[in-house]
Amino acid sequence: MTFGIDDLPIRDELRGKSPYGAPQLDVPVRLNTNENPYPLPEPLVERIAERVREAARELNRYPDRDAVELRTELARYLTRTAGYEVALDNVWAANGSNEVIQQLLQTFAGPGRTAIGFEPSYSMHGLISRGTGTGWISGPRGEDFTIDVAAAGAAIAEHRPDVVFVTSPNNPTGTAVEADTVLALYEAAQSARAGTAGAIVVVDEAYVEFSHRPSLLPLIEGRPNLVVSRTMSKAFGAAGLRLGYLAAHPAVVDAVQLVRLPYHLSAVTQATALAALEHTDTLLGYVEQLKTERDRLVGELRAIGYEVTESDANFVQFGRFDGEGAAHEVWQQILDRGVLVRDNGVPGWLRVTAGTPAENDAFLEAVRALMKERSEKEQSA
Ligand code: PMP
Repeated sequence: MTFGIDDLPIRDELRGKSPYGAPQLDVPVRLNTNENPYPLPEPLVERIAERVREAARELNRYPDRDAVELRTELARYLTRTAGYEVALDNVWAANGSNEVIQQLLQTFAGPGRTAIGFEPSYSMHGLISRGTGTGWISGPRGEDFTIDVAAAGAAIAEHRPDVVFVTSPNNPTGTAVEADTVLALYEAAQSARAGTAGAIVVVDEAYVEFSHRPSLLPLIEGRPNLVVSRTMSKAFGAAGLRLGYLAAHPAVVDAVQLVRLPYHLSAVTQATALAALEHTDTLLGYVEQLKTERDRLVGELRAIGYEVTESDANFVQFGRFDGEGAAHEVWQQILDRGVLVRDNGVPGWLRVTAGTPAENDAFLEAVRALMKERSEKEQSA
């Protein structure tokens, strides 16, 4: 036996666990990680090079620890697009929204505390909870993948979590959450912890730019325990940049300073993100194309005969595949045709990310061929 992880004195709760990660296979069409399929436009690439060159001249110094210029520009972007005015002191940035979530859990949860999410949802909420020593509670979701306020509220009342995650649009289902639902869960979370400083409610809006509905950001008004988290990985087509951010009451921004590493956001990251923000309009133009493609995928998948969950994101959940392991079998059959989609482990369902029109055509052709084969088999049986 070779020496392995379990021979090390690792924390008990990490023993036997596997790291997060979608299988990355070398196939022609990869529609499995909800990335934006469009590379950054060349003028933006040039602008990044310019900004990074400037930053490079000062790399002997630590970066702006408070990322003031970047947070100011992020605040400007939110104010412009989310219909609610935020400023520098409402915004905090980190290396991807995963790091934002980690900082929130380090600040408001951790050992002896708990966090809840309504599953199926973004699995990293649970994994980062575990990594920060936070107890994870898997809350319920309805049959149609919306959040049932009564059931979710009951879970909150029972467990009295310190942190509540609401993902809208939700990953992997694509489901948007109504503002009224968020408000009801916020109230439930505060009253469950009555007599304390309450619970933090994190609205994860990683995909909100693709939504048919407006952002939930205005809900932070008068609700200091509500945090909206965002990312440049999806709409801005910059997953490789690693830039996430949050908007909340300034006290939340002050609080996360207690756990952030000094100089966590490199000067190169700040320069690159600032360049991307200068090109917001072009990048949001791609988002419009992707929304059209997402809607086309929904329509065509339904026409082929699949069930499709209503999607407000840049991906679509489709099924149903009945029987144990049936979804995974279809995943493999689609892969055999050169298209990688995602099996998130939701029984009966798979998820496909909206790609370029050509990539989506390749995917649709693959699933059409599958359906045809299946109906031929059924007829001959
Ligand atoms: N939230 C949700 C719901 C996501 O799906 C993702 C990425 N898959 C993230 C947050 C994290 O994104 P990033 O760290 O790239 O900002």
